[in-house]
Amino acid sequence: MKTDESGAIKLTFLGAAGTVTGSKYLLEASGRRILVDCGIFQGRKEIRERNWQRLPFPPSSLDAVILTHAHLDHSGYIPVLVEQGFKGPVISTHATRDLCEILLPDSGYLMEKDADYANRKGFSRHKPALPIYTEAQAAASLESFRPIDFDEEFDLGDGLSVKLTLSGHILGSAFVQLTWGGRRIVFSGDLGRPNSATMRKPEALSQADYLVVESTYGNRHHEKTNPYDTLAEVITRTAARGGSVIIPSFAVGRSQSLLYHIAELKKQGRIPDLPVFLDSPMAINASDIFCGHLGEHRLTAKQCNSTFQQASYTRSVEASKALDEGPMPRIIVSASGMASGGRILHHLKRFAPESKNTILITGFQAEGTRGAQIADGAKEVKIHGRMVPICAEVAHLKTLSAHADQDEIMGWLGHFENPPKMTFVTHGEPMASAALADRIRDDLSWGCDVPAHGDQVELT
Ligand SMILES: [Zn+2]
Repeated sequence: MKTDESGAIKLTFLGAAGTVTGSKYLLEASGRRILVDCGIFQGRKEIRERNWQRLPFPPSSLDAVILTHAHLDHSGYIPVLVEQGFKGPVISTHATRDLCEILLPDSGYLMEKDADYANRKGFSRHKPALPIYTEAQAAASLESFRPIDFDEEFDLGDGLSVKLTLSGHILGSAFVQLTWGGRRIVFSGDLGRPNSATMRKPEALSQADYLVVESTYGNRHHEKTNPYDTLAEVITRTAARGGSVIIPSFAVGRSQSLLYHIAELKKQGRIPDLPVFLDSPMAINASDIFCGHLGEHRLTAKQCNSTFQQASYTRSVEASKALDEGPMPRIIVSASGMASGGRILHHLKRFAPESKNTILITGFQAEGTRGAQIADGAKEVKIHGRMVPICAEVAHLKTLSAHADQDEIMGWLGHFENPPKMTFVTHGEPMASAALADRIRDDLSWGCDVPAHGDQVELT
């Protein structure tokens, strides 16, 4: 079917509206359907329930999926789409495809394990509890990926094309610029920061007829403290007590950034030469992918080598358990980032009860997670069915966020030469999105909307 130049494009917000997860934006015109991002819902139960609802269109009717980046809240629903009949390409950058190759099967594996556990313990109201998808289904869905280069104009036919431009959030992350029937629609995905030590600055975009912008930190201002100073103080103080530093960390992005900062501090002689362990097979694989995409981040080949060679990698479970033995102070970076599961739990059980050690919280901790409890000063947390006292020091490193704050979002918006016809503020808790929309209206006098889940608008 031919695209009608004057015909409206329908945009439906199927995720990341009123919340920060489940990113899915459906675009429809002239009998064609495109989905920008295909994320899974995470966090509160009523939000996660949406992962089980049918999409309001048959996945087989989609022409293509376009991904902004590999984080699961943007990519983690692809296996469902493929399982339900989607036959088109998943268009992404090469690095995003590489990261999805480790993230999606791991996600399926964890879902299977969770379902298994629920069935054994009998606590699910679903009988039997099922995974949203399996590791095998996730692996099969990787066949659909069709990676393109940054800034390559990729033609999808009938006046529809897509370009992915570097957005600086994590390796491979991109702005999606869609040109359709003469209109340009821009999706920010997750917006990176101008002064990250490891990620390149987000590219400036100057043209959009319609813009969809994220607002994770739309109502916040990141601390201006220097991450090196905080890290150096925490590590030095803990080492002086003969203690170890335990760092729950996200495997993709945060782990690489932490190792880089620690390597730099060692090089400058600002911290004692403690052994550093990266105890997360996924983070190890992500680090390899990071080094395989030089030019897409700020690290040179030499810096990549020195950053990741200073750390010892533990892949096997035995090696991971061995980290908990012996009196020697050490730095352990391990997943998951919110201590909701994974190997970090074993390390917390071992190190949290001793006051000489430090638990270093480095990122956003979602409500209800162990990470949030520890960050809030809980005296004990439940791990593997028993209460573990938290006597270790709990320190915070708040400056490594991979999301732009309000001022940084406004800085990026300032590059657009003309106001878009409409700007849609998404990917935020309601307060954050509302605050950013207000600031955009006040400072730029742009038309601005905060869509709700399921809202549909016409782009004329
Ligand atoms: Zn992200």
